[in-house]
Formats: sequence, structure tokens, C-alpha cells
Amino acid sequence: MAEKRDYYEVLGVSKGASDDEIKKAYRQSAKKYHPDLHPGDKECEEKFKEVNEAYEVLSDKDKRARYDQFGHAGVDPNFGAGAGGGSPFGQGIDIDDIFSSFFGGFGGRRSNNANAPMRGSDVEATVYISFEEAAFGCKKNVSYNCVTTCGDCHGTGAQAGSSPKTCSACGGSGKVTINQRTPFGVVQTQRTCDACHGKGKIIDNPCRKCGGSGRQRKSKSVDVTIPAGIKDQQILNVGGRGNAGYNNGPAGDLHVYVNVRPHPLFERRGDDVWCDTPITFAQAALGAEIVVPTLDGKVSYTVHEGTQPGDVFKLKGKGIPHLNGRGRGDQYVRMTIEVPKNLNAKQKELIKQLDGTTSEKNYVKRKNFFDKLKDLFNE
Ligand SMILES: [Zn+2]
Ligand SMILES: [Zn+2]
Repeated sequence: MAEKRDYYEVLGVSKGASDDEIKKAYRQSAKKYHPDLHPGDKECEEKFKEVNEAYEVLSDKDKRARYDQFGHAGVDPNFGAGAGGGSPFGQGIDIDDIFSSFFGGFGGRRSNNANAPMRGSDVEATVYISFEEAAFGCKKNVSYNCVTTCGDCHGTGAQAGSSPKTCSACGGSGKVTINQRTPFGVVQTQRTCDACHGKGKIIDNPCRKCGGSGRQRKSKSVDVTIPAGIKDQQILNVGGRGNAGYNNGPAGDLHVYVNVRPHPLFERRGDDVWCDTPITFAQAALGAEIVVPTLDGKVSYTVHEGTQPGDVFKLKGKGIPHLNGRGRGDQYVRMTIEVPKNLNAKQKELIKQLDGTTSEKNYVKRKNFFDKLKDLFNE
């Protein structure tokens, strides 16, 4: 496989580029290499993929930070896996497990009763979808990491064939009461049991797979239905797909962050789609039948005679479907007029001839402007 190019280089931005600069650079490159514009061109297809890959990393705050620190290895899905398991950066770090491994359940995160059911924590995942997929909805298989109950010991933490014993020091409560004699009398304090570290159980023969925690990190995936009309940066909640609970408590949720890639031609404003369409000077002056791209495909539109740069026309109902509702936004098409360049002598001569025949009545805006200018300077 060829050496991967630097993502900043792919998008043509500097290392310190802002999110807006990255988005802008992506839009330009995606426009340039979009497969619709180069059917069958393998090189453009590869470039388009490369640009998308670079954007997926650089537009994500976490991934970008990892990429800046570790390069391509830092955003490899397998990064940090291996010995000991569990990436220090990966999604779905179980805060509960970090607490319990450091402090033996200290911190009041657990109930007073070591055996009480407790809900697992939530995990996060990110999904990237195209502009069209956001508009019309799609199904995506979302990969994420989470903590599950160990399959070998079914969460008991004891090696198959053995089982955990109730801690004799605390009687299974995970807490011990200490009576201290002080000058003011006997003071009772409760603290976490040293023998079982607050778990209430002692495992003599820990499960080899999970080391006795009863929990295991796993890569998982789930099919998520993304509704039509979803906006960039919206979060979908998938109930019960987060980290496993404790003592048969329910699992947490999975939060899916939806990132919508910019479109090479369309810009979204609310549920409306905006699109700049360049026409020639002659088309603008004479009127013309033009082809306009929409989310539903190409449509033809009659540009009227004397169309001005910046004129906007509306295609009703050609915008983005309203999220969880009826109807759609509209599409607004803004006319840009391209002034011809690289003209040859004959073409220039024709334009001069035309210009020589025009008068104030052909240029109403220009006439208004100079009338106002005269008033302003009392000429
Ligand atoms: Zn186990
Ligand atoms: Zn104990």
C-alpha cells in the first residue's frame, strides 16, 4: 500500500487551520474530485476518498488531536488495543471502572450496598454521512467500544467452576464499621472494607479472561437508522447499548454523534438548500433554458431575459425534508454570471460593437447609480 499522505497536505491547509478553513478546503477539494463530475476516472475517485478520509479526521476534535500527536497511527481504529486491552483514547472508556480500579469504588458512585444494581455509563460513537444521506435518511452500521459483562464468567469474576465467596470481613456489605474511642466518647465511622475493596465478595480464583472484574472491553457495532432531515452535529441516542450495568443493573446508552459532510454544490440553511449556478453573459442577457441540480436530480429552468448576477429563484419543495415532520424546505438557486476571459481579437471586437450600440436604457442600475452620485456631489 502506498504511503499515506499528510491529511493537512491532502486538504491544502496549514497545521493550525481553523475548523472553518478545513471545511472550506474540504468543500473545494470535494467539488474538484467529486465522482459525479469525473465518471470512471479512477484517479479522481482515489483523490476523492483521500480527501474524505482527511476531512473525517481533521473535522473531529478528538481525532485531530490524536492525529497531531501520533500521526496516522493515532487515528487507526486499532490504535491502543493490544496488551492490557482498552485504548487510553478509545471511545467508551468506562469511568466507573477507572474509579473502581483506583479507589475500590470510592467516591460515592456506588450505592451503600455493594450488591445494589447500578446502571452502566453511556458511551459515544461518531458517524459520518453524506449531505444526501442527511436529507433523505439512511441506515448506518456504527462501530464503537464498550464494556460488557465477561462472557467466560458471566460477570461473577470467578474462573469457571468456582464462584465468589461472600467477604467474611464485612459480611458482604463492602463496608466496615469502626468504633473509635475518643475523649468525647465512642465515635462510629464507616469505611470501605479492605479485604474485598468494597465489593462484598472475595474471588480466590479470578477469571482468566477478565482478571476477576467480571467485565470486558469489546468492539461492537449496531445498525442505526438516521432519520431524514438530520442536521450536522446532532446526537442520536441508542438506549441500552452503552457500558454494562453492575449487579444486573441496566446498561448505559450509546450516543451517536452525526457528522454531515459538506456537499460540493449545495449549502444547507435550515431545511433550505442553496446552490450557486453560473450562467454565461449571453444566457443572462437573452434568457435561456438551463439545467439546475437538485437533491432529486436535474431539473430544467427557464432563466428570463435580463437576469442579473445575484438574482435568486426558488424551487418549491426541493429542499431537505423536515426532521420528524411533513413537507420539505425549498431550494434557492442564485445566479452568478461568468464574464468571459481569454477572448480573441474577433470576440473582443464583437463585444465592442455591442457596447457601442447600448445606451442608458440598457443599463438601468448603472444609470441609477450615477444619478445618485451626481446628487451626492451636487454636480
Ligand atoms: Zn470473566
Ligand atoms: Zn469485605
